[in-house]
Amino acid sequence: MNIGVLAFQGSVIEHIKHIEKLGHKAIEVKKVEDLNNIDALILPGGESTTIGKLLIITGMLDALRSKILSGLPVWGTCAGMILLAKEIEGEENTYLGVMDIKVKRNAYGTQIDSFESNKVIEKISPNPIKMVFIRAPYVIKCNKETEIISEVNNNIIAVRERNMLATSFHPELTDDTTFLEYFIKDFA
Ligand code: GLN
Repeated sequence: MNIGVLAFQGSVIEHIKHIEKLGHKAIEVKKVEDLNNIDALILPGGESTTIGKLLIITGMLDALRSKILSGLPVWGTCAGMILLAKEIEGEENTYLGVMDIKVKRNAYGTQIDSFESNKVIEKISPNPIKMVFIRAPYVIKCNKETEIISEVNNNIIAVRERNMLATSFHPELTDDTTFLEYFIKDFA
């Protein structure tokens, strides 16, 4: 399977390594035409404002939005979750605006802006999954269509809706490919 990684900025290489570790082909996606060569797409963590601006400059924002709306499996990690959201707390602007969630950016404030958590997510695996949060967002509102996959400290940190998956944390910064396996198996 050809799995694309939006390759403007952020944890691109780490996602590519995980994709290759599972025996799939990783494709760096940087321009509209690259969208035609992929079966699924990962939007990596990084800085959502920067990635969002680059989506606009390259003309990819509208093309990617329509691909997602017509069923391209997509997984947003951290900044990627913000790019997918229909609402961002305190901001007028949104980016792809395809997933019916409201997110809060940098939601953990400055005191604990980065932390790790180990948690069993029954829907995904019987083994605990290590989650790395870096200036992470979480979901403060979602609608009926959105399934909550996991919460940490009562905050929603993983959700799915039709062909879309969004997580607040960075599985690609650990050795654990469980979440990627779940994305490939259930979405792609
Ligand atoms: N704080 C970043 C943002 O608002 C997200 C951080 C991340 O992707 N690790 O875009």
